[in-house]
Amino acid sequence: MTPSTTNDRALPGDRPERGPSAWIEPGDLRVGILGGTFDPIHYGHLVIAEQVREALRLDRVLFVPAALPPHKLDDEVAPAADRAAMVALAIAGNPAFAMSEIELRRSGPSYTVDTFRELVDEAAQQGVARDLYFILSAEALAGLSGWHEPAALLGLTRLAVVPRPSSPLPDATHLAAMLPGGAASADRVECIETVPLAHSASDVRDRAAQGRSIRYLVPPAVEAYMRDHRLYRSDNPRRTA
Ligand code: ATP
Repeated sequence: MTPSTTNDRALPGDRPERGPSAWIEPGDLRVGILGGTFDPIHYGHLVIAEQVREALRLDRVLFVPAALPPHKLDDEVAPAADRAAMVALAIAGNPAFAMSEIELRRSGPSYTVDTFRELVDEAAQQGVARDLYFILSAEALAGLSGWHEPAALLGLTRLAVVPRPSSPLPDATHLAAMLPGGAASADRVECIETVPLAHSASDVRDRAAQGRSIRYLVPPAVEAYMRDHRLYRSDNPRRTA
């Protein structure tokens, strides 16, 4: 991949002839969506995507990098093009994985509910009855009520909730307390035990900033990209995408 220092270069998955979801084929009837900042993508993301795919017999898992994560508006994140490039490198080789720039093309903050509106509209235009599963950790689920239009989101997609070492899967009582519709919404949620990996993007960034090893935390191609682009280095100030 050609190094670049600008934010306005083509995104790695730019394929204008495709619809907003980019690589959901009309025949993909069961689709998981893993949204995130991916700053950078790491093996924790990849393992939950693969194990949810297997557990729910998904035809496709779509990785959706966020442009301006609403909960990180005050933080600096690496340029969207770099984060997307690393996702593309990380998922290459898994035919069930794909990436969409749906949120990178939209101006303003990335609201997950808007992404699902577009995905649902696209399925309708294709004349396809598609089951969507939004993949998120129990940690992220705990903040769902503070998201933009959480009830509308739950109306558009089921949730596939996975544990994080710091956040085990919720029991029925806790789950009901976190959902917009309470216990009545529980049938919109699948809780899936995945292999616990304690990886976090913030840890990867901290290690990179200190010049420490990130080997075995991210795929080798991502490690090389970070090195070649001097991402997260203390001598290369981060820029907001
Ligand atoms: P940061 O450390 O910067 O907060 P992150 O590692 O949590 O980042 P995100 O891109 O924000 O990465 O995560 C996207 C989704 O993947 C969220 O639902 C998050 O909780 C989940 N996730 C990230 N890492 C793991 C992990 N190790 N195990 C399970 N879920 C994870």
